[in-house]
Order: sequence, then C-alpha cells, then structure tokens
Amino acid sequence: MNFSLEGKTYVVMGVANRRSIAWGIAQALHDAGARLIFTYANERFEKPVRDLAKTLDRDDSLFYECDVTDDDAINTTFENIKNDVGVIHGLAHCIAFANRDELKGEFIDTSRDGFLLAHNISAFSLAAVSRAAKDVMTEGGSIVTLTYLGGERVVENYNVMGVAKASLDATMKYAANDLGKYGIRVNAISAGPIRTLSAKGVGDFNSILQEISERAPLRKPVTQEEVGDVAYFLMSNLSRGMTGEILHVDSGYSILGR
Ligand code: NAD
Repeated sequence: MNFSLEGKTYVVMGVANRRSIAWGIAQALHDAGARLIFTYANERFEKPVRDLAKTLDRDDSLFYECDVTDDDAINTTFENIKNDVGVIHGLAHCIAFANRDELKGEFIDTSRDGFLLAHNISAFSLAAVSRAAKDVMTEGGSIVTLTYLGGERVVENYNVMGVAKASLDATMKYAANDLGKYGIRVNAISAGPIRTLSAKGVGDFNSILQEISERAPLRKPVTQEEVGDVAYFLMSNLSRGMTGEILHVDSGYSILGR
C-alpha cells in the first residue's frame, strides 16, 4: 500500500497562525508529499500564512483570499485554482466563527443575527466550498471538516457554536451523499479542545482543557499534529471506504458518561 500523497494537491482553508488546526493538517499533508494551496479569510491573514508556508521545504504552495461569506469569492477562488493547477485531490475546511459575547452565558440568549452568522460561516460554508471544489476534484477526492463534541452534546459556554456544529455535521453527511457518485468523500474530525485563536473566544476554555487532562482516557489534550495525522488518513487512500463519518480525535473524552 502506498501512503504517499506525492503528485497530489490539497486545499487547506483556515490557517490563521501556527496554532491553527489547519496548520497541523497542512504539515501532515506536506510531510506525506502533497502540494498545498492555502486560502485565508482576508488580507490580515495573508502574511502569517505565507510566512508559515515558507517554513515548508517546498516552494510551490499557492495562496488565495477567500471569505466564505461571499459566494463570488468562493466561486472565483476555485475557478482560479482550476486555472492554476487543473485538479485538486482534497480540501480541509477548518473554518468557524461566532460572536465572542455569545460563547458564554445561556444559549437561549443568542441573537438572531449571531445565530445566522455562526451558521453561515461555520456550517453553510462547507456546502458552498464543497460545491465549488467538486468542479476541480475531477479525479475524485476527499473533503475533511472540523467539528466538536458541542454539536452532539451540550457543552457549557459553547452555545450557538455547538448548534452550528450540529448543522455542520448534518451538512457533512448530506454533502457526502451528494458527492459520493463523483468519487468524492466527505468526513469530519471531531477534535478535542486545543488552544487556538478561535478557542480563546469560548468562555472558560481553560476549565474545558483541564477536564480533558483529568478525565479523558488518555489524560491529555490532543495536539494539532494528532488531528493533522488523522486528516492525512482521511485524505489518503487508506480511508477510501469511508464517507459521511465523524472521527473523534479527543483523547477518548467523547466515550465518557457524566
Ligand atoms: P483558528 O482561529 O486558528 O481557525 C479558524 C479559522 O477560521 C481562521 O483561520 C479564520 O480566519 C477562519 N475564518 C473565520 N471566518 C472566516 C470567513 N468568513 N472566511 C474564511 N475563513 C474564516 O482556530 P481553530 O481552532 O484551528 O479552528 C479550526 C476549526 O477547528 C474550526 O472549525 C473550529 O471550530 C474547529 N475545532 C476547534 C477546536 C479547538 O478546540 N480549537 C476543537 C474542535 C473543532
């Protein structure tokens, strides 16, 4: 069995800095021999992403700005990718957003605008980018998104983002059903809590991490690299029989009862 991703090209969406889970995925795919295409939300993230890519030992990465709230931006990005590389073999969707003041207190207080914003960026975007990416995945491929336990169970303070993750999980399954006939698989990794820019917005995040260290079967939080390695598995031929699946990479925390 060949584990190499040499000759393959993957789009990684959502690297904000070196702590991003997307960066852990990018490194794993790079180490397996893949060529990388990075998309970032706006110009603020361009330099950090380009600087990180410079640390990789190849210089053929490509970079595109793509705000996933903008359909034209999504379509233009994937048209440009098609023109520039012809075909891609996978896509990592590592994007989420909710208003910080709605990631604490009670879910029921979520505003209408905040609810729609979280769902737009964190869930609908998977459908939108999958549709656009399909036209560039002419040899079939693999789409991986990142979800969290808060979409399956109530996690204090996670609130509207948990509800958006439930929507993301369902979006992933419906997309898997639609795209299977094109040889495109769609799966999710449910990552345990990791200290990233986004995670900082979740109220009392430190106590969530502490709970993992004390109670998860493996007694330690997961790392970006551990999530990246599972993304590599999902992008590779090893997982060719899987689609519509949620894999928990969370030190085993999700098996616990209260
Ligand atoms: P991060 O802040 O590094 O990444 C989030 C990314 O989303 C950023 O790059 C940001 O620019 C991007 N983004 C936000 N709005 C966007 C928009 N309109 N258009 C394009 N991009 C946009 O944080 P992260 O923790 O690495 O998050 C990546 C994914 O992992 C998210 O879906 C998050 O919910 C998920 N996740 C994180 C954890 C955790 O504990 N960190 C756990 C499980 C799942």
